[in-house]
Amino acid sequence: MQKNVHIIGAGISGLSAGVRLANANYRVHVHEATQQAGGRCRSYFDAATNLTIDNGNHLLLSGNRHALAYAKSIGTEAGLVGPKLAQFPFVDIVTGQRWQLDLGDGKLPLWVFDEARRVPDTKLLDYLALMPLAWAGTGKLVGDTIPCKGTLYDRLVQPLLLAALNVDPPEGSAGLAGAIVRETLLAGGQACRPLIARDGLSAVLVEPAIKLLQDKGASIQFGHELREFAIAGNAVGELKFGSDAIALGSDDAVVLAVPPRPAAALLPGLKTPSKFRAIVNAHFRFDPPKDAPPILGVVGGLVEWLFAFPQRLSVTISNGDRLVDMPREELALAIWRDVCKAASLPGEPPLPPWQIVRERRATFEATPEQNALRPGAVTSFKNLFLAGDWTDTGLPATIEGSIRSGDRAADLVLARSKA
Ligand SMILES: Cc1cc2nc3c(=O)[nH]c(=O)nc-3n(C[C@H](O)[C@H](O)[C@H](O)COP(=O)(O)OP(=O)(O)OC[C@H]3O[C@@H](n4cnc5c(N)ncnc54)[C@H](O)[C@@H]3O)c2cc1C
Repeated sequence: MQKNVHIIGAGISGLSAGVRLANANYRVHVHEATQQAGGRCRSYFDAATNLTIDNGNHLLLSGNRHALAYAKSIGTEAGLVGPKLAQFPFVDIVTGQRWQLDLGDGKLPLWVFDEARRVPDTKLLDYLALMPLAWAGTGKLVGDTIPCKGTLYDRLVQPLLLAALNVDPPEGSAGLAGAIVRETLLAGGQACRPLIARDGLSAVLVEPAIKLLQDKGASIQFGHELREFAIAGNAVGELKFGSDAIALGSDDAVVLAVPPRPAAALLPGLKTPSKFRAIVNAHFRFDPPKDAPPILGVVGGLVEWLFAFPQRLSVTISNGDRLVDMPREELALAIWRDVCKAASLPGEPPLPPWQIVRERRATFEATPEQNALRPGAVTSFKNLFLAGDWTDTGLPATIEGSIRSGDRAADLVLARSKA
């Protein structure tokens, strides 16, 4: 007899838990509040640009092993594409200087010993000063652990940690930053190849998971928001969805894979992160120049990363709370000016069709204080497990962290059924 598992929330963490459990012969029931799967990692048709865009440009690295294993399990590993080598071109739009960081393809960060592959005007000693990050505790600040000024900081450490933590790096958790550094930079170029879902987040990471689940007999219900748990002793007895309710059998399990706010509302007393930071993305319908790199690091302006897609130039700005209330037209124009400089567009072409996506609660604040509020996957109810990028994954809020949390919740469900 197949056992039932109810997955609440069809974001990446819920989907990864669902896929793992469907592959282990569970009967999976996915309940998603909105009309679309993918949560904070999704694509949609945008009328302003007449293109299908992602809510945000998402970058993975080849060292994100849970994310790659998930993509493989849904048959879309080949949909994550990037340059063959871990090379990161950068431009400083104030000075016009361009350089490329070349991390090679080994398993050790040997590139730091080669002046030609390092960030220009940096020395080996600057890199060695970053080592304390690798073993820093989560309670420590980045700003108290490594030097947060100087050329290496401005040109590499700040852009990298800002993208990973989504807070100004000095105020971020050194432990979370250290986890990223250990799993990518310190693991050599082999773990640092940038990967993008070139055909869109939904086509590569979301829809194939839904299809796999459906092929395995799962039910997927959209517009099915969980409103309440009815508790029976030390277990969840019933799921209440507003217009309907589902009673759980003794072998049934639930994976709650919703963001922290709904999780805290559903489970009073649950400790969760309570502060969040925005990410701003801008999309311009504009054919990228032929020699445009797929990803360009930009320093000295508003824009932080410039992505070149077919027919589209897209921009990511992290820690974007300062921009959420800025008039949209003004913001689009300011970003476009930076794009013209970064992509060397001759004559600053007029603003093309554009879209701005401001995700106000893109990630929890990756500070020591907020990190301390992340719960593990186990709850006080024996058939209920938590997943989500905000649970205690040891990583900042990332796809890798989400999938790790989904895998962990699924493994706990499986372990329970074996007990
Ligand atoms: C703009 C932006 C850029 C990003 N860039 C990157 C990047 O470059 N690299 C990277 O690794 N990560 C990036 N991230 C982070 C990444 O998107 C998230 O970590 C990940 O998508 C979180 O997935 P999740 O499943 O944990 O949560 P969510 O995606 O929030 O999914 C939760 C789901 O639960 C549903 N839900 C909520 N309440 C209920 C309820 N009561 N009942 C049923 N369903 C409910 C929601 O509708 C949602 O679908 C970015 C995020 C944003 C917003």
